[in-house]
Amino acid sequence: MPIDATQPYDSQNVFAKILRGEIPNRTVYEDEWALAFHDINPQAPLHVLVIPKGAYVSWDDFSARASAEEIAGFVRAVGHVAREAGLVEPGYRLLANIGGHGHQEVPHLHVHVFAGRPLGPMLAR
Ligand code: 5GP
Repeated sequence: MPIDATQPYDSQNVFAKILRGEIPNRTVYEDEWALAFHDINPQAPLHVLVIPKGAYVSWDDFSARASAEEIAGFVRAVGHVAREAGLVEPGYRLLANIGGHGHQEVPHLHVHVFAGRPLGPMLAR
């Protein structure tokens, strides 16, 4: 079920548990600002999730409340993950779902990185 992106942060969400080490993950990259790990249900040959370490529900919450340092650190981490995976030349797709119409399911901001094949049109019609 999609979440309501206006809700307060739920510290029991699955990505908060991953950040606390309570649930295992296949880490791709980690720094002070972000953690990147393989999606448990990949929808492309490469499907990585990049999440900020801070407690933010969605892109909306993050862009409104995060510090400039957190935002820069997170955005750079997404770029770093893609470059390190060799995705710049073949190309890749970033996606952030927000709230009900965005079909966001986990209420901790995450950017999907999809790659590894031509990804087709942007949205299903
Ligand atoms: P959303 O629809 O919120 O943008 O995407 C949530 C994503 O999180 C989905 O692609 C789903 O497969 C992934 N996911 C949900 N639970 C887990 C988990 O426990 N571990 C990992 N690695 N991915 C998860």
